[in-house]
Amino acid sequence: MSSLLFDTHAHYTDSKFEDPVSLLKQLFETDVCGVMCCGWDVNSSKDSLNLAKQFPGMFSSAGIHPENCTDLEDMNAALDEVKKLCSDDKVKALGEIGLDYYWDIPKKKQLEYFDAQLCLAEELDIPVIIHDRDAHGDVFDLIRSHKKVRGVMHGYSGSAESARQYANMGFYISFPGTITFKNAARLPEVVGVVPLDRIVVETDCPYLTPVPYRGQMNHSGYIKYTAGKVAELLKIDYNEFCSIEVVNAKKLFNI
Ligand SMILES: [Zn+2]
Repeated sequence: MSSLLFDTHAHYTDSKFEDPVSLLKQLFETDVCGVMCCGWDVNSSKDSLNLAKQFPGMFSSAGIHPENCTDLEDMNAALDEVKKLCSDDKVKALGEIGLDYYWDIPKKKQLEYFDAQLCLAEELDIPVIIHDRDAHGDVFDLIRSHKKVRGVMHGYSGSAESARQYANMGFYISFPGTITFKNAARLPEVVGVVPLDRIVVETDCPYLTPVPYRGQMNHSGYIKYTAGKVAELLKIDYNEFCSIEVVNAKKLFNI
């Protein structure tokens, strides 16, 4: 049984990665069979697609992150670009999109972009990658108002009860490296309530590095620590978990 994983959320176009191509070549040999490279605005979505085209196991997403919506003057023009990108075979999701109430970003604008992109995802019938930081109630309400939307709750930080509801609504729950932290709060409890066929893992690299590399720059080679923790909490064999996780990620992104 293979112990390769699918990293469902990574940012290899981040300028912190000096030579992502060489790094990914190595990671695809030793640690991962799949990587979702996420865009956060039009340019990073284009760059993610170009990078993904260099690796058979790599895919990309296109979308406008809540932190980036205030840079834009014309929402419709930006969403037209996102729509065009989504027509490429390598673009498997619309994201990352959502709400971020941690930073001081005008809520009205965030809500406008999030709602419009959920509409677009329904129109294109493409899964979404959701960013939810300190905005659990509004994210849940908006997603629920778009009945056809499916996808993944990235870097999940909500309650066990919400995770169960998202799973019932057809969503996958993606666990980040923070689950390995001693103060992981409620994440271990969340793992216990999400059906096994709805669980995936991610790095969100170059951020959120798991223990024992916490504090250093993250990459997909460290996803095994996150997966190891999830398998331990589920009390299942590590290799078995890896196989299940890859199947789940492929189903999530229709690969
Ligand atoms: Zn991200």
